[in-house]
Amino acid sequence: MTAETTEKTFPTPLGTVREEAQDCTRCDLYKNATQTVFGEGGGDARVVFVGEQPGDKEDIEGKPFVGPAGRLLDDILEEAGIDRKKTYVTNAVKHFKFEPRGKRRIHSKPNAGEIRACRWWLDQELTHIQPDLAVALGATAARALVGKQVPVMKQRGTVVESAEGIPVFITVHPSSLLRIPNDVDRRSARERFTEDMRKVKAMMKG
Ligand code: SF4
Repeated sequence: MTAETTEKTFPTPLGTVREEAQDCTRCDLYKNATQTVFGEGGGDARVVFVGEQPGDKEDIEGKPFVGPAGRLLDDILEEAGIDRKKTYVTNAVKHFKFEPRGKRRIHSKPNAGEIRACRWWLDQELTHIQPDLAVALGATAARALVGKQVPVMKQRGTVVESAEGIPVFITVHPSSLLRIPNDVDRRSARERFTEDMRKVKAMMKG
């Protein structure tokens, strides 16, 4: 690919898009969060993992998937044989939405308007990376990628198409595993999620 073609295809480098996103006011979520949490990953990423939104720790550190769910995802990707250097991780919504409760900040689900507003940034990430596969971790990510509500439990393990025609593997968000109180059920849910990641690995080219 020539430099000229690159320039035409990607008029703004992803690093510049990331900087622009820091000043985003496309919806109201920037008002109470600490900062925009943009996606991160290898420049040659072949698969993009999309979560819901940054959590408390991600909001403070400015990095995606660095909290408990992110650490669990890291462990499971390693078990499934997925090379993190070939992945990019991001969220459908890039500011932390929460309800203050005393000193704590309790996660609050982004609404359809916020998901739609933030699709602007996800679209740019996908356009730059051009992955072979996107993985929707949960309902918010699936809705953002596909452009409509997706029944995740029914379509889990299947591949649908994103608005750009990118194959999207549907699964749950790793945080859902952390919320299971019973040890036996949690282990079994973890095994099922690991199985999903093995399917993702099999779909990755190279
Ligand atoms: S959540 Fe997304 S669209 Fe809304 S202000 Fe933040 S970066 Fe912009």
